[in-house]
Amino acid sequence: MSPLKIAVIGGSLGGVSAACLLRDAGHEVDVYERSPVELEQRGAGIGFLKASYRYLVERAGIDLDAISISTSDIIYLGRNDEIVHQSHHPYRFSSWNTVYQRLMESFGRDRYHLNKGSSRVDEKDHSVSVTFEDTSSVDVDLVVAADGIRSTTRHQLLPDVVPQYAGYVAWRGTVAEEDLPSDIVARLGDAITYYVFANSHILMYPIPALDGSVDKGQRLFNFVWYRNYLDGGDLDDLMTDVDGELRSVSVPPGAVAKHHVDEMRATAHARLPRSISEVVRRVEQPFLQVVYDIEVPRMRHGKTCLIGDAAFAVRPHAAAGTAKAAEDAWSLYRHLERSESLDTALTNWESDQLALGASLLSRTRSIGARSQTDNNWEPGDPELIFGLHTPGDAEPGS
Ligand SMILES: Cc1cc2nc3c(=O)[nH]c(=O)nc-3n(C[C@H](O)[C@H](O)[C@H](O)COP(=O)(O)OP(=O)(O)OC[C@H]3O[C@@H](n4cnc5c(N)ncnc54)[C@H](O)[C@@H]3O)c2cc1C
Repeated sequence: MSPLKIAVIGGSLGGVSAACLLRDAGHEVDVYERSPVELEQRGAGIGFLKASYRYLVERAGIDLDAISISTSDIIYLGRNDEIVHQSHHPYRFSSWNTVYQRLMESFGRDRYHLNKGSSRVDEKDHSVSVTFEDTSSVDVDLVVAADGIRSTTRHQLLPDVVPQYAGYVAWRGTVAEEDLPSDIVARLGDAITYYVFANSHILMYPIPALDGSVDKGQRLFNFVWYRNYLDGGDLDDLMTDVDGELRSVSVPPGAVAKHHVDEMRATAHARLPRSISEVVRRVEQPFLQVVYDIEVPRMRHGKTCLIGDAAFAVRPHAAAGTAKAAEDAWSLYRHLERSESLDTALTNWESDQLALGASLLSRTRSIGARSQTDNNWEPGDPELIFGLHTPGDAEPGS
């Protein structure tokens, strides 16, 4: 296939992964990001599955140990801080900022256009046109829409698909390892640590520092605590920030209303094992992400494809959201490489990625229900192991 002119809408992890791969394959790729400044997610850790780091390791030649932290054990604590389950299972963790910065270094800034929100796409006979919020437009051969959970492109093409609230939110935050009691670091620093209790669970793991450092003593401890809030009044109150603005997806560090931060800290003190509550209460600026499910019946519309959270937003319990966005990109790259025509490539790509999105969503819904409503989460159950295609999978795809 001859080189294509490609517009990637959305310049986060999914968009930049796709841009790097398609650029490497010889296509002419531009990324259009709505944000006026480069992206930043302070303190957001990610479980780092192979698809998420594959480009950086295989193509950019980056040492995996330089951008992530490996842990060797899975630990579950009991209410009195005792270890109730411990098994050996290696995981990798990184931080959103580390991965974004490295992908940006790989793609470069010349064709990454900030302050360029798209407002619509229009299919033409031999091209597709992207119109931006500033009324400018471009004509391209292919649009890759990686514009996230509130995707403008999905809203235009599939207006009936709306995010479904899962019934709970993730409270999140980080604290510097050096600010934690040394006994807690010694006990939990080489593990992912869980506490599961009535209709809730919290987990904690080490991630790189804000400057990217992965050295022991300089890392951050990251917690993610899933808590149920009734849709409507309770959720709206939680999501109303310090300035009185009602937010829909997340409330960033420093913007969560004080009475909710106070309540969260008090509940942590009252309900969580000491090792975990000591971490939570030291977090200065906890933040919030609402957990939504999104499922699309189609990912390809003419010469436009939806990838990452724009297509399927899955609950975080498989630590696979970023990996899925990256795998959508790898799969598109593979199908474009091996197909005679763009149409064949997109048809086959859509079939593969619809299957992946649907199965991951179903698996993560079921894991979420186990802790948040059904209370049948069993430490050590292999179904709970992180993974993109299956729990703990080897993630095929080359
Ligand atoms: C609590 C929680 C924990 C998680 N933990 C993990 C984990 O451990 N591991 C993991 O792999 N994943 C995890 N995820 C999931 C992961 O964060 C997402 O799946 C991933 O960020 C999706 O990437 P994306 O590029 O598709 O979308 P996003 O990161 O949402 O990016 C969308 C981008 O599009 C831009 N944009 C939006 N509209 C427009 C427009 N009209 N024009 C131009 N640009 C636009 C936005 O500004 C944004 O930059 C977690 C998610 C949550 C909520």
